Amino acid sequence: MSRLEQDVRRELRKAVADLLRWAQIEREGTAFVECDPGLLRSLMAPPAAPSAPPASAAPPSVPPSTALAAIAARIATCTRCPLHRTRNRTVPGQGHPSPELLFVGEGPGEEEDRQGLAFVGPAGQLLTRLIRRMGLSRDEVFIANIVKCRPTENNAGRRDRPPTEQEMAACIPYLEEQIAVLRPRVIVCLGGTALFGLLGLKSITKHRGRWHEYRGIPIMPTFHPSYLLRAGGDEKARYWEVWEDMAEVLRRLGRPVPDVGPRRPPAAGR
Ligand code: SF4
Repeated sequence: MSRLEQDVRRELRKAVADLLRWAQIEREGTAFVECDPGLLRSLMAPPAAPSAPPASAAPPSVPPSTALAAIAARIATCTRCPLHRTRNRTVPGQGHPSPELLFVGEGPGEEEDRQGLAFVGPAGQLLTRLIRRMGLSRDEVFIANIVKCRPTENNAGRRDRPPTEQEMAACIPYLEEQIAVLRPRVIVCLGGTALFGLLGLKSITKHRGRWHEYRGIPIMPTFHPSYLLRAGGDEKARYWEVWEDMAEVLRRLGRPVPDVGPRRPPAAGR
């Protein structure tokens, strides 16, 4: 074999070997790469312990009941308006931490101020009967007020009065925080003060029974239970107007509307 033939054969063997190696890489993937040894060591080092999150990181989400308790704790020490001077207890509101339905009234009365609970006086008892008639319990809804301390005439701590606009403006951020946590599907606005506090509207007579919206949440204004008591109580005409409003709320929630039959008051003790 001539020298030339030997050189050609050697080149051919080398070309075939390169072809076979390329085919193997295509079939099996890259087996190795050239790499800086320092970089390789750093890549192979075990991961460092996780560092503290940056200060700008979002806080971990807390359960709604915990968030509500934190709001209530701040309310308990609040001195933003003069009502703190004559209160016995703050009344943040109570009920289910993630309710479908939120009731918002005006402010605590004498009994609420004594117990620290919303709607536990005579008007609250009427509201309880109404809620039960809707097929719900107080534990399934949340009940709160526009102001969290009892407003009284001349701030003397005796006769109830509606809160002033300044008192409402001072207190309503708490309710706004509560609503952001509760995320109810529907809000029922009880009476003209709550209507003005939440929506800036006057005349509950004009707006009751008509849907409005509060920050994307449907809101149904209706009469305050105290007004129903003054208008004769459960079985009177105003009561049934409120019942029609609550029937509309139940339909909005996709819940059945109980057949109340002849328009009679709920049985005693219910
Ligand atoms: S009514 Fe509201 S703003 Fe005024 S002191 Fe009570 S919690 Fe604070």
